[in-house]
Amino acid sequence: MGLPASSTLTAMSDITIPADLLPADGRFGCGPSKVRQESVDRLAAAGPTILGTSHRKPAVKDIVGRIRSGMKAYFGLPEDYEVAVTNGGATFFWDAACYGLIEQRSAHAVFGEFSSKFAKSAEIAPHLESPVTVESEVGTHPTMERIEGVDVYALTHNETSTGVTMPVTRPAGNGLVLVDATSGAGAIEFDPTEVDAYYFSPQKAFGAEGGLCVALLSPAAQARIGGIRATGRPTPPSLDLSIVLDNSAKDQTYNTPAVSSLFLLADSVEWLLGEGGLSAVAEDCREKSGLVYGWAEDRDWATPFVADPADRSPVVCTVDLDDAIDASQVSSILRANGILDTEAYRKLGRNQLRLGVFPAVDTADVEQLLASIDHVVEALTA
Ligand SMILES: *Cc1c(COP(=O)(O)O)cnc(C)c1O
Repeated sequence: MGLPASSTLTAMSDITIPADLLPADGRFGCGPSKVRQESVDRLAAAGPTILGTSHRKPAVKDIVGRIRSGMKAYFGLPEDYEVAVTNGGATFFWDAACYGLIEQRSAHAVFGEFSSKFAKSAEIAPHLESPVTVESEVGTHPTMERIEGVDVYALTHNETSTGVTMPVTRPAGNGLVLVDATSGAGAIEFDPTEVDAYYFSPQKAFGAEGGLCVALLSPAAQARIGGIRATGRPTPPSLDLSIVLDNSAKDQTYNTPAVSSLFLLADSVEWLLGEGGLSAVAEDCREKSGLVYGWAEDRDWATPFVADPADRSPVVCTVDLDDAIDASQVSSILRANGILDTEAYRKLGRNQLRLGVFPAVDTADVEQLLASIDHVVEALTA
C-alpha cells in the first residue's frame, strides 16, 4: 500500500474511524498501560475487606505474599533469590541502588532516556565515583563488556523511549548486574542467574498501577546490600535497601503502600501464570509485535524505527512514518476516536508512533488498531 502519487494532505480533524475497525479496548500506551477490567472488578469486589485497612494485618500482607510467591514462580527464580516489593517505582530503585548496591563505581549501558537517568543518579551521588557510560545510537543498544574498576553493571532490558530490547547477560568480571526491566519484565524471557537485581515498576508489562517497585535480588545482591549497610554509609531510610529487604521478608512495605496497586499486581501475576507463564506470554507478545512490524514493513509510508529485527522490542513497537504524514496528527485523530497513547516518546523527537502490545492487549485489538491507522492515513492522504 502506498501514498497516492498526487497526495494532498487534508487537515481533517473530524476523521471518524468506522466502528467495525475500532479495537474493543483502545489502550495502547507504553506505561501506564492497559489494566484488565477483570482485575478492576475483582478489586471492587474485594474493596470492603482490604481498602482502608491496615497494611500490617493479614489481609493486606497476604496480597504482598501473593506478589512475592507469584513473581518467584513466574520468573522461575532460584530458591535463594528474594523478591522485594516497595514504594517508589523504578525511579526509586536507581537512587536506592546508589546507596545500597554500588560500592564505588558503576558502568551503565546508555541507549535512551531511561537508561541515561540511572547514570545521572550515580553521577550526582556524593559518595560514588563518576560512572562509566557505554553508549550507542538511539535505535540500537550497546554491548557491555568487562570494565576494570567497576562493581556494578547497569543494563536496561527494554528501552521504553526507543523500543529497543537488549539481551541481559553477565559481563565477565566481578560486578553485580542490575537490570532496569520496567517495560520488559513479564514479557521477555531471561536467565535469572545472569542478573543480580532485576527491578521494575508494574504499570507496563504487568498491566497494574504505578507507584510500586519490585526487585528480584540474587544472593550476591543481598550480600552487597548487607555489606554496604555494615560499613555505616549514611543512607536516608526511605532509600535504604536493607530496610526494604527486612520489610519484604515480612510481606510488608516500610511506609504505607497503595493497597489497590498491590491488589492489581497480585491479580496480574496470577493471571499471567494462568496464561501459561513467562515463555507462553513472551511468545504471545512476539506474535503481536510481529503483526505491527510486519504491517509497517508492508507499507511504504511506515518503517520499524529499530533497524535490526533482533533489537526490536516485543512490547514497545516504534514505527516511523513518512514525513508526508504527521504522526502526531495521526495520534490525535486516533485519540479522538478512543485509541489512546500512540504518541512517540516526546524527547525522541521523531515522526513516529509508539504502540504498546503488552500481555494484557488482545491480538484482535492489535489487528483492529492497525486497520484503524490505515483508515486514518488513507483519509489524510486522500
Ligand atoms: C517507565 C520506566 C521507568 C520509570 O518508571 P517509574 O515507575 O516512573 O519510576 C524506568 N525505566 C524504564 C525502562 C521505564 O520504562
